[in-house]
Amino acid sequence: MIDISPEGEVLETSLGVLNEVFGFDAFRGPQANIVQHVCAGGDALVLMPTGGGKSLCYQVPAIVRERAGQGLTVVVSPLIALMHDQVGALLEAGVAAAFLNSSLSGEDAQRIEKQMLRGELTLLYAAPERLTTPRFLALLDSLHERGKLSLFAIDEAHCVSQWGHDFRPEYRGLVVLHERFAGVPRVALTATADDLTRADIIERLQLEAARTFISSFDRPNIRYQLVEKKDATTQLLRFIRDEHTGGNGVHDAGIVYCQSRKRVEEVAAMLVSAGLSALPYHAGLDAAMRQRHQDRFLREEGLIMVATIAFGMGIDKPDVRFVAHLDMPKNIEGYYQETGRAGRDGEPANAWMAYGLQDVVNQRRMIDESPAADEFKQVLRGKLDALLVLAEASDCRRVRLLKYFGEDSKACGNCDNCLNPPELIDATESARKLLSCIYRVQQSSGNAFGAGHIMDILRGKVTDKVTQYGHDKLSTFGIGANMSETQWRALLRHLIAREAVQVNDAPYNTLHLADAARAILKGEQEIWLRQVSEKAERSRGARASRAGRATTAPEGQPLSLAERDCLDALKAWRAEVAREHNLPAFVIFHDATLRAIATRRPQTDADLDGISGIGQKKREAYGADVLRVVSAFG
Ligand code: ADP
Ligand code: ZN
Repeated sequence: MIDISPEGEVLETSLGVLNEVFGFDAFRGPQANIVQHVCAGGDALVLMPTGGGKSLCYQVPAIVRERAGQGLTVVVSPLIALMHDQVGALLEAGVAAAFLNSSLSGEDAQRIEKQMLRGELTLLYAAPERLTTPRFLALLDSLHERGKLSLFAIDEAHCVSQWGHDFRPEYRGLVVLHERFAGVPRVALTATADDLTRADIIERLQLEAARTFISSFDRPNIRYQLVEKKDATTQLLRFIRDEHTGGNGVHDAGIVYCQSRKRVEEVAAMLVSAGLSALPYHAGLDAAMRQRHQDRFLREEGLIMVATIAFGMGIDKPDVRFVAHLDMPKNIEGYYQETGRAGRDGEPANAWMAYGLQDVVNQRRMIDESPAADEFKQVLRGKLDALLVLAEASDCRRVRLLKYFGEDSKACGNCDNCLNPPELIDATESARKLLSCIYRVQQSSGNAFGAGHIMDILRGKVTDKVTQYGHDKLSTFGIGANMSETQWRALLRHLIAREAVQVNDAPYNTLHLADAARAILKGEQEIWLRQVSEKAERSRGARASRAGRATTAPEGQPLSLAERDCLDALKAWRAEVAREHNLPAFVIFHDATLRAIATRRPQTDADLDGISGIGQKKREAYGADVLRVVSAFG
């Protein structure tokens, strides 16, 4: 094999590729080190948040190594539906790339295999189940024997771990790459960073010898907001109207996550009837419709995708301006992964979640009822609890999120709690009332009861059930009449999050005291509850979040009228090209690139120098068009 050290030279070569092929002038964060390490033939595990720039970490080495005669890079990706666009983006940049998956005809697949064997490809994308077939491995053998198998990139590597949020058993088979193709470097990439998943990836893929590159997981442009659920759909509508709808009534592109298929359908219909552009996406829709909705989301501007978590992995749409959760996810990893799909372009974006008591109860129940082993359930409960603690927190959300991934940081100034510190009220006494009520009820009737009944007793409501069981005679009857049911529910949720109360016996969801109750009842522990006034909630976010949209230049300067017109014309041109090529518009040029063109208004080809995102191939293909569009705006 050709030796492409020394290091300085490697870096220079890869910078050259970054500039020439992708039109970027510098690596971001740890990219340079990763690229250098992988170019030199080292194994790597890359942990980087969504939007951090993982693709270039294997695409640049693939190009550098291919040019040095080392042959093909195989990219393992679980996302058949997205391979077409990923490969399309590389072809637009002038890189010889192709994909092999079940969407191709036998004829097309054969043609690509031939290209691959003739050494005409730099990158080949394939799904893991395809890659690990004896037939395909034999093809790779023949490349390997000739020294033409350069690199394996394993994207979404957390899929190998059952601790990740998207376990794919086929990923387990990828260990064959190490066993069979000794000496071919491997780079595994993921945006999931918790220790358990990380250790599992290393073990399952035998990456013990790999160097691990961990980036900061912070996404400073994302604003985190977690609000108490009252009427979730009304709250959602208000959030979209207040924070993501422009003066012209056009709204941003966003994703709304819901727990169930049914709910997805309902919420999508509700948004549509409120005059917004929204589409449903869940595993119950047929494959063709899912693909169609995904394509529209990627290709059109300002669409809202209402989806279950079946949607989103690998969606590299850069201008998703918000991710909303109408139901609570299972754990922080999932929450972070899903919210991470907002604002990949680095511009301001919102992560908004409404959560309530029912979410907590549902999630707990799903764990309890799952057929998993007890030990495994315990891990799942621990992960859920960590998310509850985040939701109940009254200090900086980002500090807690990052802490969860092992990073220390300072209060961010860009989350709900930083921008609008919630008032804390001392709820110790009320907590004791609630706990003793649960205790007394169970003691007196030998039976446990659900939240609604317990609250009726506390608030002194005489219902049939209350009289039937004689619960109006209890000493705790009516001791909580000073608080509303909403307040009691918030407190109960908090006590569940703190493991003072446990919810059992699905489907009755009866309440029981748990370990942490004792200290509270004995007066050894105080309970402080966050209190966010309705008004504060409404004005949150809205203040700063509409800054920095498409109406702003990359440097943060608002565009002039002429610049706006020019940008609109460029976008119209781009839409045309994207349609012709059957690709999302951002694959042709990013918004940021078009904005830079609109502000700079280049007159000659030389004026295109240094505009980020215009590589050599795109310049040849589109430079003249761009100049022509711009010339109308002298
Ligand atoms: P990830 O896969 O980590 O979520 P991507 O690889 O999709 O992230 O990159 C996110 C965005 O950042 C893409 O639009 C990409 O073009 C851009 N990007 C990545 N690296 C650079 C860089 N060095 N300079 C400029 N833009 C970059
Ligand atoms: Zn903060």
